[in-house]
Amino acid sequence: MDLGIAGRHAVVCASSRGLGRACATALAKAGCSVVVNGRDEATLEKTAAELRASTGATITAIAGDVTDPAVREALVAVAPVDILVNNAGGPPPRDFRDVSHADLIKGVEANMATPIALVQLVIDGMVERGFGRIVNITSASVVTGIEKLDLSSGARAGLTGFLSGVARQVAGSNVAINNLLPGSFDTDRQDAIIAAAAERTGRSVAEIEAARDAATPTGRIGRPDEFGAACAFLASAHAGFIIGQNILMDGGQSRTNF
Ligand code: NAD
Repeated sequence: MDLGIAGRHAVVCASSRGLGRACATALAKAGCSVVVNGRDEATLEKTAAELRASTGATITAIAGDVTDPAVREALVAVAPVDILVNNAGGPPPRDFRDVSHADLIKGVEANMATPIALVQLVIDGMVERGFGRIVNITSASVVTGIEKLDLSSGARAGLTGFLSGVARQVAGSNVAINNLLPGSFDTDRQDAIIAAAAERTGRSVAEIEAARDAATPTGRIGRPDEFGAACAFLASAHAGFIIGQNILMDGGQSRTNF
């Protein structure tokens, strides 16, 4: 399928690894120029070089923490932004009793305030040009409780609620804002969550992974390229009638119908 976005310009936050990288890859393959971002400059430059080689797309690397306003300004300054993929690292798994006020503010900053600030930076240009796609990487924890990820769940639910009304205000200008909710995907973040669970419970990593896979109707976790493909579709010319939705990608693990 031709996604109809060749020549569009995309910014993908937190994209040196994992799901962000997969989204950047899919958008580059669809013919977009892409700004990639990550905190570690060497990792980011390596990713940018690999994406240039594998897709032939124009890839610009902007290193820095996306929670820093100066980094956000740099990300959107490369060219008028047609497609924004909001992403940042999630808070570490933790018992809710141990989440300090400072932790809470940090989680809300990364997973709610930062994506909102980026939307504020790009939205008027998208409306003026009559095309815009914003995909927010949130989490399955927005729609189903996941113990120890309470801060992640709360901050991302806050983002979802905030942008729900925004999405309706800009839809008439062919600007579509949607959320992609990952369940378990094969990334470093997933490895860290499993390692933390192993330490907490005394069970082996292999045992926890087997239980996770058995609890998922697909019998496996997701591949980042599957996530990237869904993101590229939501960013495509065909997605202008999908507005303010939460697309759950979790292999059927969550039993929710809606
Ligand atoms: P990851 O840890 O594998 O990769 C995250 C990437 O983002 C890394 O390159 C990291 O350097 C970069 N990054 C993190 N914080 C950043 C920041 N503040 N500024 C700039 N770059 C930053 O994570 P992932 O698995 O790709 O997950 C992406 C998002 O999806 C996270 O918010 C995560 O919590 C969420 N999520 C992931 C899963 C999963 O199974 N992988 C499930 C649910 C939710």
